[in-house]
Amino acid sequence: MKLLKDRILKDGKSFEGGILKVDSFINHQMDPILMKSIGVEFVRRFGHLPINKIVTIEASGIAPAIMLGYLLELPVVFIKKAVPKTMENMLTASVYSFTKDKTYDICVSQDFLTPNDQVVFIDDFLANGNAAMGVHQLIEKAGASLLGMGFIIEKSFQKGHELLRELNIPIESLARIKFLGDNRIEFEE
Ligand code: 5GP
Repeated sequence: MKLLKDRILKDGKSFEGGILKVDSFINHQMDPILMKSIGVEFVRRFGHLPINKIVTIEASGIAPAIMLGYLLELPVVFIKKAVPKTMENMLTASVYSFTKDKTYDICVSQDFLTPNDQVVFIDDFLANGNAAMGVHQLIEKAGASLLGMGFIIEKSFQKGHELLRELNIPIESLARIKFLGDNRIEFEE
């Protein structure tokens, strides 16, 4: 997606150790016009699938997921990272965060994810794939079907895509980055 890649080159900040900061248009301040184009691109890639819901994880997956849900006129379920005391019919899974070097619980209520649901999962980044695998576990526990996964940015030098390939579903990333260094960003062709 050229628009996105150009924006990453213009406003993204890359750091030694393979971290990309996109705080000015995705992770802290948000560009809704770019987000709409991202939604349109996800429609192009997933619109043919027989889905009835979009699933994402808070916080930065919510904006692109909402755009996709709006365009397809489907509800958006966001998985929570903090386990609320009041949630009913709760399912949980554990996720290891490589960037934070800690394990945290994610959860969803079975009220909103059921065996009748066929979903795609949308998130901002695919790095090592731990968050996505945790979400996959939750979707399985709920008895729902995961038909595809979409990411705004994939860091293809990390092992996420390889890990998710075993699920045998379409994995779509709108910008695939093969190298991140001090002030240097290189995309896959
Ligand atoms: P994974 O579980 O695939 O290793 O990492 C997924 C999550 O880590 C993403 O949802 C994102 O929040 C965060 N993340 C991983 N790498 C980066 C990065 O380079 N930049 C930013 N902004 N977030 C990242």
